[in-house]
Amino acid sequence: MKIALIAHDKKKEDMIRLAVKYREALAPHELFATGTTGTMVMGETGLKITRMKSGPLGGDQQIGSMIAEGKLDLVVFLRDPLTAQPHEPDVSALLRLCDVQNIPLATNVKSAEIMLENLASLDA
Ligand code: PGA
Repeated sequence: MKIALIAHDKKKEDMIRLAVKYREALAPHELFATGTTGTMVMGETGLKITRMKSGPLGGDQQIGSMIAEGKLDLVVFLRDPLTAQPHEPDVSALLRLCDVQNIPLATNVKSAEIMLENLASLDA
């Protein structure tokens, strides 16, 4: 599966914990991430990740474009619901495209855990 990992700044520690916990489950898959998230997760886990631009600089749009083209199968986007984001329109567009394309999307740690624990069955 092609999986995208994105985390807003206040959620990056959560994303790292998630990626460490599910390292073995994620490893066989093709991973993509926005710039800073990708750098941090790669640094902490050694997972191979294709990095897009940083989210506020267009990375969310790049991931959104992959979703529109059917090039992603699952998205984990740990959003910070309590902080205004300068690139909110890009965030909304990405989330919307997941619904347009019926792509599984987790926006918080608990839902991400449920998805990552069931990767094998989602793969089928
Ligand atoms: P970042 O982007 O991984 O480059 O920080 C994430 C975002 O804010 O959308």
